[in-house]
Amino acid sequence: MRQKVIAGNWKMNTDLNESISLINDIKEKLVDRDNVKVIIAPPYTSLDRASQLISGSNISLSAQNMSYEDSGAFTGAISASMIKSVGCTYVILGHSERRTIFGEKNSDVNNKMKKAIASDLTPIFCIGETLEERESGEMKNVIEKQVREGLEGISEQDLTGSIVAYEPVWAIGTGKVATPDQAQEVHAFIRNLLKEIYSENLANNTVIQYGGSVKPENAAELIGQTDIDGALVGGACLSAESFVGIVNNA
Ligand code: PEP
Repeated sequence: MRQKVIAGNWKMNTDLNESISLINDIKEKLVDRDNVKVIIAPPYTSLDRASQLISGSNISLSAQNMSYEDSGAFTGAISASMIKSVGCTYVILGHSERRTIFGEKNSDVNNKMKKAIASDLTPIFCIGETLEERESGEMKNVIEKQVREGLEGISEQDLTGSIVAYEPVWAIGTGKVATPDQAQEVHAFIRNLLKEIYSENLANNTVIQYGGSVKPENAAELIGQTDIDGALVGGACLSAESFVGIVNNA
């Protein structure tokens, strides 16, 4: 059975002191559950301290992005080995904000996926359509392209254990959540694609999270769908109460 995975993407929020108090607050409220994995993705500047604070707990640490380059003249970039050195075991790749605001293409995401896997980091591979793409009937084509190009050249063995996050762009930070049926339809489509490209075994074992305005109030119904294995949470993860509420309702 696939484990439920709840990950909090803090985005560009919380300075060091705010991060410390949010982590302490989460630790205080969180009750460990065997069937739910909890991941937090604070900003880079808080990762080192976050790693110390979650040590000994069941919370894992993720970065929000990384470069596919190893080192060198890439001002402002952060490498896989750098995030590993501060305790990250996960990395979010291809988030829609990286794609739309920073112009990341499927090929960039593919390079990052390969680098993360080669570095023993577990990628959270984000995909999802815009409202325009959904309304013009292009949704499945867009998602298929993101999956095929983002995973190009990655073997089944290498992809095993990676997480996929389906995040409809129109539902991110907008308060407009996909209905459980809408989300389930796309999750089943993604799982089927994984089966086509790889195998039934990989498809059945890959965690596919939903992301887009998940809150404690809608988490149970979304995560209760057959192919929805947890959530990638933005806004609601900045409050320990709502983040832990989502974990409890998963
Ligand atoms: C996200 O950015 O990954 C996200 C899902 O954000 P929100 O929960 O705020 O929609």
